[in-house]
Amino acid sequence: MRVRGSAAVILLALALPACSGADPAATVSTTVPGPAATASSATSDPSSAAGSGTLPAPVQREPSPAPTASGAAAGPTATSTPAPTPTPTAAPSATAPPAGAYADPGAVDVVVNKRRPLVPLDFAPADLRQPDVATATENALLRPDVASALEEMFGAAGNEGVALTLVSGYRSFATQESTYASWVAQYGDAAGADTVSARPGYSEHQTGLAFDIGQADGACTLVLCFRDTPAAQWAARHAADFGFILRYPLGFHEVTGFSAESWHFRYVGRDVSLAMRAAGTQTLEEHFGLPAAPSY
Ligand SMILES: [Zn+2]
Repeated sequence: MRVRGSAAVILLALALPACSGADPAATVSTTVPGPAATASSATSDPSSAAGSGTLPAPVQREPSPAPTASGAAAGPTATSTPAPTPTPTAAPSATAPPAGAYADPGAVDVVVNKRRPLVPLDFAPADLRQPDVATATENALLRPDVASALEEMFGAAGNEGVALTLVSGYRSFATQESTYASWVAQYGDAAGADTVSARPGYSEHQTGLAFDIGQADGACTLVLCFRDTPAAQWAARHAADFGFILRYPLGFHEVTGFSAESWHFRYVGRDVSLAMRAAGTQTLEEHFGLPAAPSY
């Protein structure tokens, strides 16, 4: 693996996404020598920030990836072939899904959002490995099938002159638990913490199916301006070819519960990713006919 240096770490500490929440202790301990210039472009609320660079949205961060091996229990990979693509529905359904639908945390079609916690809440993938790609951290683990697909995608990007970097992968329940608790302490209540951090058991990163990407130079890592980079634009165009979707697209906050994150991708398998692209469907919730999850 190639691990880039402090620039990425620093930018990671400044970053602001919603999808899982940061570790305030960790970020505070990270020395940020430069001016907070990147923060001015850092918002994850696309609707209010388009173009201006002003910052109405709460600061939201991605934590460092989880510590390694503890979550990677030995055992066979729980990989299964992607479930058949269900008939897409026209809009998020008002009716609750059948019990257990898209709820298997070991399946690539699991849907995790603010109203669909992982079951069990402390789920950990059966197997994890670090993809052999450029990374901004030494611990960016993914399920093996996801890691392989990611290696293909990064390789294809590289062949077209676009250098992608893996910024963050699996995060354990324990990591998210301490992260969220830190935010509750910092804000004084859960309501404040919920604006910046996913509750433990509700983070897509805990599935081992989700990851964040960045640019090779670390610029715009996990902040709004990433969406304008070649890395983001290439990934948005090509992710479906490798079984990935952009999980938190622009303008679907009321469905996914999170503002746009041009860096956060989720493995769903090519059956689903290609079907969604063909149909122009933007969210997993819509594709599977699940209710929107704007909040807990
Ligand atoms: Zn993410």
